[in-house]
Amino acid sequence: MNSRQLQALVRTVPDFPAPGIMFRDLTTLFADPAGLAATVDQLASHARSIGADAIAGIEARGFILGAAIAAACGKGFVPLRKAGKLPVPVIEAEYELEYGNDRLELDPTLIADDANILLVDDLIATGGTALAALGLLRRAGARVTHGAFAIDLADLGGSKALREADCAPFSLMAYP
Ligand code: 5GP
Repeated sequence: MNSRQLQALVRTVPDFPAPGIMFRDLTTLFADPAGLAATVDQLASHARSIGADAIAGIEARGFILGAAIAAACGKGFVPLRKAGKLPVPVIEAEYELEYGNDRLELDPTLIADDANILLVDDLIATGGTALAALGLLRRAGARVTHGAFAIDLADLGGSKALREADCAPFSLMAYP
């Protein structure tokens, strides 16, 4: 399935979560058997090609893709969770959203020393979320040289920012 066929399965919802925003809703793609399989297969091929030792996914939609990619590659999955969910000591990173701040947390004991970790999320926009996740994984001792996303909203600059942080972005679909 090529990029155009995948895009046909993504639903665009205008004015969500705020007026003027075109929300790219992946639930329609995930609900489509061929679309989900193609998305996971293509991202898993990328994970294999970079020799990832494990996959780290960002809550919540990064869990859907990240866990499926990890299982397809025979690797483990590490969650980057929203604040206050993990039952063990964590390291944390704050990042800015359009309105206010949010926080990601990681259990650093899940990261093997110098492991090559592929960072996964459904979508990269400004890159604030992915950069916070990248910082946490590196603080925990991981090597994170690649990030994989279903969608890149390239005009918002996140993939460029990730590249500048020495983490090469890979995506299946690009939207302006
Ligand atoms: P960023 O931090 O790069 O600005 O935003 C990316 C994060 O916000 C990702 O975790 C992603 O799930 C969510 N996000 C932002 N815009 C959209 C969108 O249009 N569609 C979806 N599915 N997620 C979005």
